[in-house]
Amino acid sequence: MSFTVHGLPVSQGIAIGYAHLVSHALLEVNHYQIAARHLKAELERFDTAVETVENELLALRVSATAASPHNEVSAFIDLQRMMLQDPVLVEAAREKIQEHHYNAEWALVQQMEVVVEQFRQIEDPYLRERQADVVQVVERLVKALLGDPGHLPNRRKDGLGTVIVAHDLSPADTIGFRNHIAGFITDIGGSTSHTAIVARNLGIPAIVGLRHIRDLLRANELIIVDGTRGIAIIDPDESVIEEYMLRRAALELERSKLKRLRDTQAATLGGEVIQLLANISGPQDMIQIKETNADGVGLFRTEFLFIDRDTLPDEDEQYEIYRSVIKAAAGKPVTARTFDIGADKTLAGVPRNEPNPALGLRAVRYSLAEPKIFLTQLRALLRASAHGNLQIMIPMLAHADEIEQTLKLIEKAKEELREEKIKFNEHMPVGGMVEVPAAALALGMFIRRLDFLSIGTNDLIQYTLAVDRGNESVGRLYDPLHPAVLKLISGTVQTAQRAELPVSVCGEMAGSSAYTLLLLGMGLKSFSMHPARILEIKQHILRADLAELIPKTQRLLKLDEPARIREAVEKLEG
Ligand code: PEP
Ligand code: MG
Repeated sequence: MSFTVHGLPVSQGIAIGYAHLVSHALLEVNHYQIAARHLKAELERFDTAVETVENELLALRVSATAASPHNEVSAFIDLQRMMLQDPVLVEAAREKIQEHHYNAEWALVQQMEVVVEQFRQIEDPYLRERQADVVQVVERLVKALLGDPGHLPNRRKDGLGTVIVAHDLSPADTIGFRNHIAGFITDIGGSTSHTAIVARNLGIPAIVGLRHIRDLLRANELIIVDGTRGIAIIDPDESVIEEYMLRRAALELERSKLKRLRDTQAATLGGEVIQLLANISGPQDMIQIKETNADGVGLFRTEFLFIDRDTLPDEDEQYEIYRSVIKAAAGKPVTARTFDIGADKTLAGVPRNEPNPALGLRAVRYSLAEPKIFLTQLRALLRASAHGNLQIMIPMLAHADEIEQTLKLIEKAKEELREEKIKFNEHMPVGGMVEVPAAALALGMFIRRLDFLSIGTNDLIQYTLAVDRGNESVGRLYDPLHPAVLKLISGTVQTAQRAELPVSVCGEMAGSSAYTLLLLGMGLKSFSMHPARILEIKQHILRADLAELIPKTQRLLKLDEPARIREAVEKLEG
């Protein structure tokens, strides 16, 4: 029977395909009794899973140590290895199989609950938090018992694609599925979660926040994903499929018309030239830069180079990647952001261990806490800077001290390279991201120390409004038009321009046509967005009249009533 569900549209377009359900190991566990004659085999299955996970963790430990001998990641892995050897968890679960004839997965989950409860009673907050490690170890074990559920089906004969249906997807999962899927839908997630951003970058229609969709669907059911309206239609009628095929064709036609703007300069009606840059996550995205003729790369999310793998790339590997991006940019500027690890972007196979990761060891904080990893990246970037127009940008700055420490490390990297007689650009510009309200409000200390600024609206909104950008249950509160957010963005643009410091916006607002006129009206001259959005935004810029927009926006910024702000933003369209 056909039915429709509504969620958050996070990546435009229409996908038609068959459901591929991605398992969430702990939600998948069945409970059944093992017959006495199969008990030995079940115990062997259990022992093999423990051994597999032991090997997995050991391999992870080796690669983490290679990157940095004393890092926190290694410590977390060690902790999980200890748990795996702890009789309270593994031996007790084994006994449950033996005594109660539970299946191995069920025995583990039962014992996990006992152990987690013991951790909950601990007073020390750090030790109490370790319950998350218990859950993660058990999750690994259950996955090992269930085998690899992520295997994708081959292409269908009828030409329809595969739609991934998951409770949640990490950015790494999303990257892992690229090239294989038509679209994806998930139970949870927010519109600027990194998973949503990856989907947009890959041009895959996607809807998140569909709540219980994973439980409502059966494998191989036909689904239409309308990523523009946020509607998923399950088991659609023939007539609906036909209608959507027509819509999909119309969208493709519109896209091909936009292609005609490729070589038109992005300038407003009054002739003000606007810089349109691209956000990329690796060299593979440079093809789109050529297709859309972007003015360069405004945000290279370098952390995506390794979050879907177990080992950190070494200096040479990083250098080759950065160099290939710079070469592909052919003289146009490339802004590489140093690793923004933490929050929802963790290293593959390394569990999240912070109670509040978005406020924890993320971005520049992580890099400074792992100076060896940071120095390796800085050396690789500096070496690559010899090949073109590279600048680097530091994420999540809040303190002047973070810039000072980073600049010192850059100087150290330069000194090393000089001694080794390796070429680099002595004057490689260093900029910072304004994505924490503290940075926007105390801009002077950043302006004095940096060569350029870029406003990361995704995080700026999250941190200003105290709304988790990846949590759909507070998604309604994630409002780019909140007067506090608008004041911080326009204040940053104006202060930077007065100081003659280049400033751009590289958050998702820059690629959303709903905000193009507003940002232009604030005086913004440089936008960075996923390449798929560039031509549409250019179309809006070509029709914009700054002489009208600027005074209108100044009036709008004085409003503090949400409904009136919304109305005024709509009226900017004329
Ligand atoms: C931002 O926060 O707006 C941004 C561009 O960085 P990211 O989305 O990668 O956190
Ligand atoms: Mg950010």
